[in-house]
Amino acid sequence: MTIISDLSDLIIEQVTVTTFVMITARASSPTAPCPCCGTVSKCVHSHYQRTLRDLPASGRPVHLVMQVRRFFCEKSTCQRKIFAERFPSLTLPRVKFTKRLQEALREMGFELGGEAGARLGKKLSYPGSPDTILRLIKQAQLPTTQPPRVVGIDDWSWKRGLRYGTLICDLETNRPIDVLADRSVPTVSAWFEERPSIEIVSRDRSSEYAAAISKGAPQALQVADLWHIVKNLSESVQILLARGPAEIRRNLQVQITSEQEPEETEPVLDEERRPARSLSVK
Ligand SMILES: [Zn+2]
Repeated sequence: MTIISDLSDLIIEQVTVTTFVMITARASSPTAPCPCCGTVSKCVHSHYQRTLRDLPASGRPVHLVMQVRRFFCEKSTCQRKIFAERFPSLTLPRVKFTKRLQEALREMGFELGGEAGARLGKKLSYPGSPDTILRLIKQAQLPTTQPPRVVGIDDWSWKRGLRYGTLICDLETNRPIDVLADRSVPTVSAWFEERPSIEIVSRDRSSEYAAAISKGAPQALQVADLWHIVKNLSESVQILLARGPAEIRRNLQVQITSEQEPEETEPVLDEERRPARSLSVK
C-alpha cells in the first residue's frame, strides 16, 4: 500500500474508495508494551475502533480506521491494569489526525495563518479548522538556540504614537529574540541581567537604553547601530545640501556686488585705459 508505505508496523486489512478513501488497518505485532511500566503484554482484553484522518490521496480525504486492542498489563504491581495499544509512528494518544497530517497543517498555518490555511486545506481535502491549525502552531517545538552574544535593541510599536515596547534581535543569526512590554530601564536592564553571555549591544542614541544596558550588562560594549548612523548621516547631508545653494547664492551676490561697486565710483576712463573684465575676474 503505497500511500502509507512508511508505516511498516501496520497490516492493511481493507481499502474502500468512494468519495473518500477508507483504510482499515491493525498493528502487525502480537504484543504491546504497557505505557506505564513498559512491560510487554500479549494478553488481549478487548478491541475497539479508532478513526484517524490522514493526508488526502489523489484529492480524496483519507480515513484510517485502526483496529485497536486493549491489553492486560502483566506486571502485578503496575498501576495500569488495562491499557490500549499505541501507534507511536502514526499518531499520538487521543489525537484524531496522523502525525504527517498534523505536520502538513502546521506548515500551512505557518505560511498562511489559521483562517487562510483552513480555506486552502478544505479545497485540497485536508481537514482542520482554523482553531486546529492555530493550536498546532502553538504546539510547534521552538528551535534550540545558542545564548546570544551580539544583540540589537530598538523601539517596538505596540500602538504607534501611544505605546512602545522593545524589540531585541540576535545580530549573528538575524532573528528576533524577544519583545519586551515597554522600554523602561527596569524592564530592559532585567532582561540583560538574565543573559550574561551578551558581549556587544547595538542601539540607537536613546539615553534610556544606554542606561538600561549599562545597568543590566555592564560587560557589554555599546555601539551605534548602522541604521541610525546612516539615518543621521542622511539627515545631516540633506540639511547641508538644503542650506548650500543659499550660501552659494549669497557668496555670488557679495562677489558680484563687490565687483560692481568700484565701477560706480571708478572715474570714467578712456576705453584704452579700462582694464579688461576677464582680468578682474581672475
Ligand atoms: Zn504496566
